[in-house]
Amino acid sequence: MCGYFLLSGFSVKVAFKDLSKAGNRYEISDDSWFPESELYRIAPVQAELVLNSKGDSRVEVQGFLRTGVRLACDRCLADYDFPVDVNFHLVLEVAAEENWYIKELECSGTDLDTVLLSEPVVDCWDILRQQLYLSLPDKRICSPQCKGLCPKCGIDLNTGDCSCVPEQKESPFAVLAALKKK
Ligand SMILES: [Zn+2]
Ligand SMILES: [Zn+2]
Repeated sequence: MCGYFLLSGFSVKVAFKDLSKAGNRYEISDDSWFPESELYRIAPVQAELVLNSKGDSRVEVQGFLRTGVRLACDRCLADYDFPVDVNFHLVLEVAAEENWYIKELECSGTDLDTVLLSEPVVDCWDILRQQLYLSLPDKRICSPQCKGLCPKCGIDLNTGDCSCVPEQKESPFAVLAALKKK
């Protein structure tokens, strides 16, 4: 059984040494960690973090994050809603700054993501923000069928057609053929 705690906006950091032996479980609906200035949130926050101490300098973190954000499509620039639903499992490890490079090499073979910390303190809000950003897609496309904008007139081809003639790319073969004719 885990110790059960509720996190409020002012107690987001937990020192490794203060973790209970049985593990600390946090259910989070607080959204004060959410980077409002960078992302537009469209759904309430539902999250859970379970912290388990693994010795003096390591803490195992398991949890999930559910919410939703509004993103802009890379192709048509229109806003669309993106549901965030991630489960995560990682290890926090304190590393002396001079050892960071070596630690990173050592950790590259493990199954679990390892996050190096400069002090033995878990910042729950930091973890949630990291997981939020990791969950966002590299390519932001409102739908696989998105037709994007016309490169000539800029009209959104999902909502209407334009009369622009698509530019024919000159193929190297066409150039060759033209040369031969000369
Ligand atoms: Zn689009
Ligand atoms: Zn056009």
